[in-house]
Amino acid sequence: MSIGVLALQGAFRRHVEAFDALGQPAVEVRRPRELDDVDALAIPGGESGTMSMLLERGGLFEPIAERLAAGMPALGTCAGMILLGTEVLDGRTDQRCFGAIDITTRRNGYGRQIDSFDTALDIEGLDSPFDASFIRAPIVERVGDDVTVLARVDDRPVLCTSGPVMVAAFHPELPTPDGTSDLRIHRRFLEEVL
Ligand code: GLN
Repeated sequence: MSIGVLALQGAFRRHVEAFDALGQPAVEVRRPRELDDVDALAIPGGESGTMSMLLERGGLFEPIAERLAAGMPALGTCAGMILLGTEVLDGRTDQRCFGAIDITTRRNGYGRQIDSFDTALDIEGLDSPFDASFIRAPIVERVGDDVTVLARVDDRPVLCTSGPVMVAAFHPELPTPDGTSDLRIHRRFLEEVL
């Protein structure tokens, strides 16, 4: 079993470290042939419009879309959540999404005043709160019927699953403010979704 982390742009290194720390080696994916060797893909935070453009330029968009349509498990955080969704609002006009989970997101939806914040999040199935960092995070404006919402902030979904896909509006790969790592989301992805 091999996990790929899309490494075109953004915070991919932390995802590799998170999987490594859980004993699940992960490899960086930059080219189509590197995708062939992985069984699952994590798409990191970063800038979803830039990632969409780089995916197309590098010839990776279609191969990833095909693998996702064939049921490849995927974990998306922040920009990765936007890319795995069905539709993005307030994105670049040429920005594309994979449609692997039926959600509509709004880029930078929390607005300028609170565009970044930390919160102790209650997550279904976890016995204590998760310190979640939101960094110019997307708002989830709509979820489809087959989407399970595992956590909300102000009534808005921030952690969702559907089949083999899990998406978070926050950054479970980043260390918590006290400098430790909380890998419960990555572990759950490995245990439940993969
Ligand atoms: N605002 C970014 C985007 O639109 C996401 C921010 C992040 O990934 N931390 O893609």
